[in-house]
Amino acid sequence: MNPKSPSESQPTAKSDEIVVFMVRRETKCAECGRELFDGSLLRLEDDRPLCLDCADLGHLEFLTSGNTALTRRATKHSPLRAVVVQWARARKRYERQGILVTPAAIDRAETECLADEEQRVRQRERAAIRRAAEDLEYESAVGRKLKELFPGCPTESTVQIAAWTCRKHSGRVGRSAAAKEFDPQALRLAVIAHIRHEHTRYDELLMETGDRAHARGMVRDEITKVLANWERNAEMA
Ligand SMILES: [Zn+2]
Repeated sequence: MNPKSPSESQPTAKSDEIVVFMVRRETKCAECGRELFDGSLLRLEDDRPLCLDCADLGHLEFLTSGNTALTRRATKHSPLRAVVVQWARARKRYERQGILVTPAAIDRAETECLADEEQRVRQRERAAIRRAAEDLEYESAVGRKLKELFPGCPTESTVQIAAWTCRKHSGRVGRSAAAKEFDPQALRLAVIAHIRHEHTRYDELLMETGDRAHARGMVRDEITKVLANWERNAEMA
């Protein structure tokens, strides 16, 4: 007898569940004589294989495992249901393949899951908008701090440095708690990097020679001069 007796399937099925077997070796329905090919479903009644029609389960639809929410909801909505198992040779045990439930139960479960999906998408969208707004707020706060420390820094540069600094630290958990962007020393380094790349010939020099130390040496005095100007009041810019 190909399908193991139902008692052997107990580990995968609760006692109140109707168990249906996925055929692995061809057999015949004991009542109507229909051929049950590999992959078709049968129920065992007193060790007699029955096709689904003869087992009064023919009106049910197979819902394959994988979508937990859908399975849970379809199970809840179906007045009659069965668990589909298949013998896994390698693991020597029955494994759940899905459930048999009414088509109406699947429809209802799908509708509910779709409704949830939309809700989840909307929640994600709202969160993204909120994060973007927080980022902008944060950037302008860092910009204000920069203006305070470097009053001579042109607004355009302030905006660029703030954006770059925030981007560098974005995704940080509890960013306001970290507040690395507000550390004067960190801000100073960001400003120096900005001056080096935007207000000196550093990038060209590095491109030409590939020598970072040399290029830095060439622009050091220029950076010091610009930095000193920016640290003084706005008129000196
Ligand atoms: Zn039959």
